Order: sequence, then structure tokens, then C-alpha cells
Amino acid sequence: MSFLTKIFGSRNQRLLKQYQKTVREINALEPQLETLSDEALQAKTAEFKARVAEGATLDSILVEAFAVCREASKRVLKMRHFDVQMIGGMVLHYGKIAEMGTGEGKTLMGTLPIYLNALSGKGVHVVTVNDYLAQRDAEWMGQLYSWLGLSTGINLSQLDHDAKQVAYGSDITYGTNNEFGFDYLRDNMVFEAKDRVQRGLNFAVVDEVDSILIDEARTPLIISGQAENHTELYYKINEVPKMLTLQIGEETPDGSGKIEVPGDYTKDEKAHQVLLTEAGHDKAEKILTQMGLLPEGASLYDAAHITLIHHLYAALRAHALYFKDQHYVVLNDEIVIVDEFTGRMMTGRRWSDGLHQAVEAKEGVRIQNENQTLASITFQNYFRMYTRLSGMTGTADTEAYEFQEIYGLETVVIPPNRPSQRKDRQDQVYKSAEEKYGAMLKDIQDCYERGQPVLVGTTSIENSELLSGILTKAKLPHNVLNAKQHAREAEIIAQAGRPQAITIATNMAGRGTDIVLGGNVAKQVQLIEANDALTEVDKAAQSQKLRDEWNSLHEHVVKAGGLHIIGTERHESRRVDNQLRGRSGRQGDPGSSRFYLSLDDQLLRIFAGDRVRAIMDRLKMPEGEPIEAGIVSRSIESAQRKVEARNFDIRKQLLEYDDVANDQRKVIYQQRNELLEAHDMTELMSSLRHGMFADIVHAHVPLESVEEQWDLPGLEAVLSAEWAIDLLLVKMAASEPSLTGEDILDRVHQAVNQAYDAKVAIVGKESFAGFERSVMLQSIDTHWREHLAALDHLRQGIHLRGYAQKNPKQEYKREAFELFAQMLDMIKNDVVRTVVTVRIQSREEIEAVEEQMALPQVENVHFQHADFDASASPEEIMAPAAFAADDQPELSYALKVGRNDPCPCGSGKKFKQCHGKLA
Ligand code: ADP
Repeated sequence: MSFLTKIFGSRNQRLLKQYQKTVREINALEPQLETLSDEALQAKTAEFKARVAEGATLDSILVEAFAVCREASKRVLKMRHFDVQMIGGMVLHYGKIAEMGTGEGKTLMGTLPIYLNALSGKGVHVVTVNDYLAQRDAEWMGQLYSWLGLSTGINLSQLDHDAKQVAYGSDITYGTNNEFGFDYLRDNMVFEAKDRVQRGLNFAVVDEVDSILIDEARTPLIISGQAENHTELYYKINEVPKMLTLQIGEETPDGSGKIEVPGDYTKDEKAHQVLLTEAGHDKAEKILTQMGLLPEGASLYDAAHITLIHHLYAALRAHALYFKDQHYVVLNDEIVIVDEFTGRMMTGRRWSDGLHQAVEAKEGVRIQNENQTLASITFQNYFRMYTRLSGMTGTADTEAYEFQEIYGLETVVIPPNRPSQRKDRQDQVYKSAEEKYGAMLKDIQDCYERGQPVLVGTTSIENSELLSGILTKAKLPHNVLNAKQHAREAEIIAQAGRPQAITIATNMAGRGTDIVLGGNVAKQVQLIEANDALTEVDKAAQSQKLRDEWNSLHEHVVKAGGLHIIGTERHESRRVDNQLRGRSGRQGDPGSSRFYLSLDDQLLRIFAGDRVRAIMDRLKMPEGEPIEAGIVSRSIESAQRKVEARNFDIRKQLLEYDDVANDQRKVIYQQRNELLEAHDMTELMSSLRHGMFADIVHAHVPLESVEEQWDLPGLEAVLSAEWAIDLLLVKMAASEPSLTGEDILDRVHQAVNQAYDAKVAIVGKESFAGFERSVMLQSIDTHWREHLAALDHLRQGIHLRGYAQKNPKQEYKREAFELFAQMLDMIKNDVVRTVVTVRIQSREEIEAVEEQMALPQVENVHFQHADFDASASPEEIMAPAAFAADDQPELSYALKVGRNDPCPCGSGKKFKQCHGKLA
């Protein structure tokens, strides 16, 4: 303890002391609340709500609300919140993390801040690690909330849209981190405001916060899918450019300028752009009509065919601007882009906007319908959006720095209600795995004979099975839990405290269910109580009998030493070891724990093996004898610290890269949401139009220029060919000598507005606004998807490119920003062009088009988180640091990758033949 800590007490102690004072105030209200009738107590909720609505802060009603919640819990759940639970409740309410041991009652503790914050009516999200826990806790604690007049919803992945809206509309919503995150992403992909399910991110209580915000935060949530399959269309349209001719500008013989040799399109190699002339446009329409792609008499400008012109331009660019062995090569039936400047092949990279497919069609190779990221977010960035975030867990303290650094969350360690009596024994280190398993078997056998229950924690399913085989051979009955069937496993783990019980579990299995010494009879008692066939007397008698039996079992187990925990390996972080140990010694129970290690263990082999072996040799340890010394434990701990630091680094890198995308995502999503909610698009569209046409005019009639500098014929041509605006500017200038550049801009605006108003007049303001909204949303979505892919490539490339003296992260940021600006320009251009050039005949037509656009433009949509499936490369999923360090163990893979799946390291080998060999 440092000198200052001694004098002032640690911050933790000071906070506890402060909260303790509030607890006394809460306790003081108890006698009075106890006298209230149920109705009077229940009426408190409405009273609080009214006060909050009138402006009272939640902080100001905390004391009363906590007191009411406790009193209600006493009546409904027959549990009275302990004082330490009150303290924990305050920690959560103030947006911090409460560390509280397993079995201390975090579920009940959570009800206090949840009740208080629900009073604001803005919603409270309770986040759990799996659906089973969400459901269990919601049903259990939901009784209390509903008694107090608040609604509880459960947000499960299989719910349909309406049910989800109901769940989110509830005062309190339980669900998993994945589901909350995916819903957020999905809400930002809808085409109508009413299709969103969430209603803002207000207050979240994250249960097992370390698992969710740390372990699971190493990979982002990703929604991916394939763009709609247009293969046929690409091949057909590929025929069109061959029938069109390039318009060539030729120098006049006297050198006075250029004359045009008429043709169907022009090209600008620098800007990589092509443009159909008026004649070319007509010709293309005829060809497309002949091919049956465009109905007789229809125009490329018709609303129903707006995608066709897109395809046509892509094909034209592919033919006119992109050349084999210069811009790309054909390799193994694939188009591989060649970097123009370095000549290097950019394998895996694709051009956007349909160009790549057009080139594939041109070369007659297979048109790839590649998997695209449609949306993605890290948990860090998702959870940071909550106005107030809080969390609870049994093990946060070792990660307090990260919580503070990344989430701005402070960790407060809550003392146990009754101090634990668990004895954590020294690790035993053996030379070989065989000796280790032999020693474990002896330990388990001994417990079994004495009737002491044992929980054996393993790091992987393989290890569980190996151990299970050993126990079967020794004729020891046992259960194996693999975190596959959460509900069933919860039941087994609830009984893992019975005499002689032997349970093998991976660290994920049976989480959130606490192990009562002697087994859990609560459920059986409930069943009896609920059995209407029994008389009250019978019920009481049977329940009592069960409790008596339990009492004797409980006594037996307590005498045998409580629950014994065996660790088969140290985990990659000390926190996970503590999670395992924490399963024993709940609520002041006795218990013990011991980890068995061997030099073959992954962690030791890679990080500490040599040192420990040297120690063993120095001590001249005979074969089969374990070493049990502080110096070894310290080596192991330092190895764990190394792994922890590396994992922290991976998460931080992922976050730093995602932060760039995050700022951009926020802009795009905000824009999208404003669009969804906007009734009137007039202002937005007119400002877009004006900006666009001002740019076009100024390109030909520069600001503050004189007439000699103007290029009116050029402007006329562009307006006509590109925008379907026919304006006789040359003539105007000739007949009106005083015409200024500003006048010209005005005339252009007028013409554009007129054309626009004429369209609005045909279909009505509302329908046209709907159409504009859809065009805009679709354009945003398409470009955003391509932007995400571009960012991905950029991120990978930035590390391959040797940036001399340059910080890759800075470079990434700079380039990502440029790409983003370009994307915004493309969106504007796209939208204005479509809206200005679209030809509309009727309202029905435009509404049909709008409906068409709102349909999903992608297929095979996948929701991924950390399930490294074959379709996702690890580069997609992880920040570069994660695979740069592939010589180091990646224990968590073992739980998630199938043995026959491709190894996530990207080697192309099967997992079991690559990194899976380690596990
Ligand atoms: P944790 O999540 O902290 O491991 P749980 O919320 O699962 O613990 O609670 C463990 C057990 O303690 C539960 O069976 C619960 O009923 C019981 N419990 C919690 N708080 C109280 C209390 N104040 N009074 C009585 N029992 C409680």
C-alpha cells in the first residue's frame, strides 16, 4: 500500500464509504415502507415517473426508488437486497462497473438501477452473454418489474420484426450483446422509419461485462451478403459498347481549334470517365430495345430503367478505358487489378460501381458475385453509444485499466456479503501432460470417495473429452458441458454441488448459474408449490421433506470441504482463471481450488517453458514429482500478463481502425435516419442540385471571369448530354451582350428547377419525395458498402506498403478521409443525376419503382461474430496485429473453429492441421 493510500484510503474505499452513507438513508426508509399496502407501494412507480417527467433527476430519487425496489422484492421474490447489493446498484447507476463475486447476487443487484432508470421511460437494456440467461433473468426479475408496473421485453434472435419492436418498446429489455448490436446495424439498413426496432440507446447494464466488452470485443459484428446477381445483364450489355464509336476531336488545319468527328461517346482518360453524346444515347436506346432489355418506346431516363444506364456506363468504361495487361491481367479465370504506378498485382481487390463485373464480362471470365460487408461495428463502438453504460462481473479488477481507457468505465470492487472461505492452493507443475492428468485423476478420485463435489474447468472441448475418457476408464461418473445447450447445461451445473458430483466444463459452459452446495432444490420446491393437485398441507410437507434432504446433503458437502475446483491449464488471462475459481466459495461457503499444469501446456511452452524447466532441473526434481513454488507461479503470471497485453493491443488496434470507420458510420447513419424521418425533401434536394450545377457551370464559366474565358458550347453540350437539359446558351449570350456569369448560372438553375417542378407536378410532391428518398437511401447504401470494402483494402495495404517515416495509422486516417469525401461526392452526383434526368409518366410508375428499390438489394445475408467461417478471411475480421502475431497462441479460436474448417490464420490449411494442432 502506498503512503498516500494509507492516509486517504484508496479511491475504492472512499467510494464504498460514500455509497454506504446512502445505504443508511435507504435503510432508514424501510420501516415506513413496510407499513404500506401492496397498492400503495405499487403506486410509487407512477409517482416517481411523474416526478421525473416534471424534471426531477434520477439521482434525486435514487434513495426512495432503491428502497421501494427492495421492499417490492421482499414481497414478490422473497429476497431482501443486501446492503452490498445496494452499493453495487449505485455503482451501476453511476455508470461504473461493479465487481462482485460469483453467487453474491448480481442479478438481484441489477434490479435497483434498472428500476430507477426505467422510470425515465427511455428504455433500459440488460445485456447478457446468451439467450438462455436473457430469458431466465427476464422471467425471474420480470416478476418484480411487472409488480411495480413496468414492462419487460426479451429480445431474442428468432423474434420477428413486430415482436422485436414490442421487446424494445418495453420499459426494460433483456437480450444478448450480439442481438443488440445486430439490431442496431439492421436499423440502419431499413428503408422506412417504421421498420426500425430500437428506440435509442439510453442505459445499459452489461452482465458479465468482462466477457462481453473484453473477450468478445476482439472481433467486430459483421453483416455480410452478396449483391444481387446480375450476371446475365452484364454479359448482354457487354455487347453494346462494341457497336458504339468514339467521338474524336481533331485539330483544325489552321490550328484554330478542334473540330469534332461525330461519334457516340467521349472519354476522359484522366478522370476515368466516359460520356454518351446525344446521338450515342439514342443509338444505345435502339440497341437495348432490339436486345429486349428496354421496352419499345421506353427511354433510358425512365424511372423504371435507371439501373440500366448504370450498367451501360460501366460496360462502356470497361471497353474504352480499361485495358488488359495494362490496367488488369486475366489470371485463373479472374480479373486481377494491376496498380498503375507500381505495376504490382492487387489480388483480391475489386473495382467498384459495377466496373469489375463489366470487365469480367468483357474478358469472358466468370462474373464473381463476391461477398460484401454490408455493415459492421465493434462492441467497443456500439456500447460507447449508450448515454449511460454500466456493467457487473465477478472478475473486472485485472482489466480495470482497459475498461477505463476504452470505455471510460471505472471499476469498483464490492466486498462480499459474507467473506469467502475458499482456499486457493498453489499450482502444481508437472514435466509432462501425462503426469499432470495422472495427478488430477488422483485428486478427483479422492474427492469422489469423500463425497466432495468437483468442478473441472478446461480450455477446450478437446481437453474436456480427453479428460472425460480418462474418468470413464477409471469408472468415475461425471457430466461434460461444452457451452452448447445453455439451458440443459444450466440445470446440470445447478446440481454440480451435490455430494460426489463430478462436472467437467469449458470456461463458457453453464455461465451465470451458481452452484449451491448440496444441489439446488428451489426449482423442485417451486414445482410442488405450483402443483394444484396437492393440498396446502401436502405441499408444505413435501417441500419440507425436500429441504430437510437438502440440508443433510448440504451439511455433508460442507464437511467434505465444499466445492473443489480443478483447473487443467492456466488460461490466457488471469481473469478467466479467477472466473473458474469464483465458482466455488459463494456466499461464505467453504471450498478449494487448484490448477494442474505441465510444461506441455501451451501457455508454458510458449512463454515460460524454458524458465520453469530450468528451475525444475536446478531443483533436481525426480520424474513424476510436481513443482509447487511461488517462483513458478510468478513466471506463469508474467506469461499471462504478456498474453493479456498482447490481446489488449489487438483490441486497441481493432478499435483504432474502427474509430475511423466509426466517425464515418455515424455521419452516414445520421444522414440515413434524417432521411427516414424527413417528410419534406425539397430543401435538401434543392441544395444538392444547386451545389452540383454551380460546380458544372463554374467549370465552364469560371467565377469572376470575362466572356473570352467562357466555354458556352461545352457547357451546352454537357447539360444536354449528361443532364438532359437543353438550353441555348450560345444564342443567349449573342443576343444579350450584358449577360454575366451569374446570369448564366441563374438560367441554368431556372431550367433545372423547371424540369424538376414539371416532374413533381406529374406525380405529386409526396410521391416524388418518396422516390427521392429511396434513390438517396439506395445510393448511400451502395456506396457505403463499397466504401467499407475500400477501407478494408486500405487497412491491409497500409501495412504492406512501406511508409517510410510515416505512421500507418495516420496515413490510413488521411486516406480514409479522402475516400469518404469522394464517396459523398459520388452519392450527391448519383442522386442529383437520377432525380434530374429521370423521365416520369405517372404516379403509379414512380411508386412501383420506389417499392422495387426498397426491396433488399442483397442476398445470402449472414450475421457473423467471431465464427470464423470460410467466407470471411481473417483480415476481414481482425486488425492487422492479430495475424502478424500468428506464432503466438490463440486459445479462443479453439472454442469457435471446427476442426475441419480452414484455419483462421489464413494459411489455407485445415484448422486441425495448422493452429488447431496446438490446442
Ligand atoms: P451471481 O450472478 O452474482 O453469481 P446470482 O444473481 O445468480 O449470483 O445469485 C446467486 C443466488 O443468490 C441466487 O440463487 C439468488 O436467489 C441468491 N440471492 C441473491 N441475492 C439474494 C438476497 N438478497 N437474498 C437472498 N438470496 C439472494
